[in-house]
Amino acid sequence: MDDPDFAKNYPNIICRKCEAPAVNSNGETPQFDSMGDFGDNPVYIDGAKCWRRYKFGGFITMRDDFNCENLDEFYDRSGFMKIYMGSFK
Ligand SMILES: [Zn+2]
Repeated sequence: MDDPDFAKNYPNIICRKCEAPAVNSNGETPQFDSMGDFGDNPVYIDGAKCWRRYKFGGFITMRDDFNCENLDEFYDRSGFMKIYMGSFK
């Protein structure tokens, strides 16, 4: 799942190597549904809040520079929704 196609245009994507030490809000390895579109959110990498987008049993991790309350707010503040509306098919 390196550089999955769905990840195009997402903001602040963290590469697989850098996201390796990610933990969930309990300080544990983040869990996700390997068959579905959900899992722990947010996650933390060296104390930095990050959001994961889960899809098709994979995920991408995005650094949150805004300390958002949820993924929707992160998309909104990072300008992602504009990109999404404009270029996703
Ligand atoms: Zn990296």
